[in-house]
Amino acid sequence: MALASQDVGVVGWATGGGHGLATGKYGMGADNIIEAVVVTPTGEVVAANACQNRDLFWAIRGGGGGTFGVILSVTLKAYPMPSVTLVNLSMSAKNGTHPSSWYRFVARAHAHLDLLQEAGVHGYYTMGGGSLTLQGALLIYDAQNGTVENLLAPMRRFFDASNATATSNLTPLVTLPWYELVEMMPTTESVGTKQSVRASRFIPRKVVKDDIELFAETLEAITSHPGPLNVISPPSISGTMTGSRTPVDNALNPAWRDSVVHIITSQSWDESLPPAVADRVVHNMTYQKGYALRQLAPDTGAYFNEVRMQDLCLLKYAFVANEYISYVGQRKRVNLAVVFFR
Ligand SMILES: Cc1cc2nc3c(=O)[nH]c(=O)nc-3n(C[C@H](O)[C@H](O)[C@H](O)COP(=O)(O)OP(=O)(O)OC[C@H]3O[C@@H](n4cnc5c(N)ncnc54)[C@H](O)[C@@H]3O)c2cc1C
Repeated sequence: MALASQDVGVVGWATGGGHGLATGKYGMGADNIIEAVVVTPTGEVVAANACQNRDLFWAIRGGGGGTFGVILSVTLKAYPMPSVTLVNLSMSAKNGTHPSSWYRFVARAHAHLDLLQEAGVHGYYTMGGGSLTLQGALLIYDAQNGTVENLLAPMRRFFDASNATATSNLTPLVTLPWYELVEMMPTTESVGTKQSVRASRFIPRKVVKDDIELFAETLEAITSHPGPLNVISPPSISGTMTGSRTPVDNALNPAWRDSVVHIITSQSWDESLPPAVADRVVHNMTYQKGYALRQLAPDTGAYFNEVRMQDLCLLKYAFVANEYISYVGQRKRVNLAVVFFR
């Protein structure tokens, strides 16, 4: 588990999903809960684990903390301290590269993120923000001699073959005991009066394998800019590589294991923007960018903990996890006497 933000609490993070620096190898926060003590809606204090109150244990690992009760404590799995190699990933379009060629290149690069993810590598990137660039970091755990170079070789070959389109870099920076790396991470706090809007989606492996053209067109569509550039930030995209594929029987949205990345596209503006213009940006994000993402990946949903709650349209699509809860609940004849949010 690694949380770089002081604003994020462990319970909401882990019960709603919980990605962090080690997710690719060790799974999500939800996968690593081994027990919780819960006050149920009927006022009982119960332990939920693999032996007691198993339905509740299943549901709170991915279905949200506040959904099923008040959690007094959680016990999380611990691991021997791994070493981690931090790799810089950067891609930037060459002068004269047409945006459509750039986005096709970026879409195709996701096939390599998928291969890396399969090997337990985790990573994050940001792109857009008005330029044809992508900056990211990959984290490789407990790499033996030569493993890092072997893991990176296919993506490097792809970069070499695409060097007419983009200048790209994949460079190991440092290998450290995990905790030393965490201590180096900047901590963040959310402050300020900026307004923002976002749309998010899991991008499934199927898209990266079979629908590269549509994926590229979608990336281009969601980075297009509808408003005045001086007061509204151009859309940026942040990508989070998904979790370990090792199956865990819990309420986590299955898209966490079937997807390559979860992406969030967002725009922000300050409060001097006239409300009517802000409304147009929100509308564009919801019904054009968000719609494009939903068309690309209709079955996946968005990350429970990072979805835009005020957007009812997205909500309908975001709570695949909860539909899944209800589906598996019926299948398993789960009797969760009271579910808070329903
Ligand atoms: C700046 C920032 C950075 C983030 N970075 C990440 C990230 O790297 N990885 C990631 O996975 N997510 C990230 N998130 C999303 C984060 O996981 C969610 O916002 C999560 O809900 C935070 O949990 P919380 O307990 O702090 O929030 P709260 O808003 O307090 O709670 C969230 C939900 O959990 C419930 N809850 C909280 N505590 C309990 C409890 N003890 N018992 C029962 N229910 C409880 C609340 O009722 C609520 O429904 C980030 C969010 C922010 C704001």
